[in-house]
Amino acid sequence: MPRSEPIDTIAVSASAATTRLTIDLGALAQNWRIMRDLSGSARCGAAVKADAYGTGADHAAARLAREGCQDFFVADANEGARLRPLLPDARIYVLNGVFEGSFAQTLAHDLVPIINSPQQAAFWCGSAGDRAYALHIDTGMNRMGLSPEQAVQHSESSMPSPCLVMSHFACADDPAHPLNARQMEMFASIRDHFPGIEASLANSAGIHFGSPARYDLTRPGIALYGGEPVSGAVTPMRPVVTAETQVLVIRQGKAGETVSYGASHIFTRDSRIAVCGVGYADGFLRNGSGSGVPLRSAVPQGACGAVDGVRVPVVGKITMDLAMFDVTDLPEAAVKAGDWIELLGPTITLEEAATASGTISYEVLTSLGSRHARSYRA
Ligand SMILES: *Cc1c(COP(=O)(O)O)cnc(C)c1O
Repeated sequence: MPRSEPIDTIAVSASAATTRLTIDLGALAQNWRIMRDLSGSARCGAAVKADAYGTGADHAAARLAREGCQDFFVADANEGARLRPLLPDARIYVLNGVFEGSFAQTLAHDLVPIINSPQQAAFWCGSAGDRAYALHIDTGMNRMGLSPEQAVQHSESSMPSPCLVMSHFACADDPAHPLNARQMEMFASIRDHFPGIEASLANSAGIHFGSPARYDLTRPGIALYGGEPVSGAVTPMRPVVTAETQVLVIRQGKAGETVSYGASHIFTRDSRIAVCGVGYADGFLRNGSGSGVPLRSAVPQGACGAVDGVRVPVVGKITMDLAMFDVTDLPEAAVKAGDWIELLGPTITLEEAATASGTISYEVLTSLGSRHARSYRA
């Protein structure tokens, strides 16, 4: 029998990784200050759920706390528990609320559950005494939260008052959508039933609606990580994540030959191809592949990498661990085995990468896998 080492004793070598992420915590901090200033007199919190949108919640939250952020939003109690030692004095709100299975974690780490239904309210108020909770009121998203009628009933019940009432926009990234105004009106009228209690409504995009959406606390997420808060608007946000992949092999493809699975891309000329160590398992989504993928017709441009600011298109299907880029138009010396190709960063914005794969910036970030070598810039 071969002796097997426990896997966590085997050293992971950053230099052996063929993808690398550089996460600029200074840019994150600056983006938070922009959101804080836009929040006016409201406190500016931070959504750090899903490992801070894939950037590393421990690094991101610690940096934001140093910047002055006191209110953090996570999805579940496990995420909150992990952050508590780093954020001893912060309020950590749990967006998914609380249920039997998460009750012990919630109490032990002093998390504030965001109560999302009358059942959660009865459970928390019946089990946790007067420990703090927030109340989510649904104003049109139909996802989480008490209906306006249930919220009014709650306010008239004998249950302890929440420390915060909140709601969430369904269409904030599309400022012209009529649902935004309806949600703001509805929230304003329900909020009157909770006098003296703090309120929160705006995510990154909602902050741009100005004072009717700001209340006491704002909850930006994507803008902190360099995403465009309002679709198509010029964004002042600085990119936070740079992703690069290493060229493993340069190969020649002849006109008429094909590349990758399905042989869907046919070379129209003799081509030089950089084969790189990144694939859909690393969040380089398969939908960014070249011709042959259904989305390609909806999104004429597939994904690109960049070499010194020059875009190099993906050719053929993106595979689990490898992707091929057409570098025929670059001088030979510009791309060699061992060089790095940018996937996200100064040239390829988060929005460009997302559009090329038929998705949104949020999904690009949260899909980043665990194989990248990560480094953090202060
Ligand atoms: C994720 C989330 C946010 C942050 O949204 P962004 O669009 O990333 O700014 C705010 N509030 C709630 C309820 C969320 O789920």
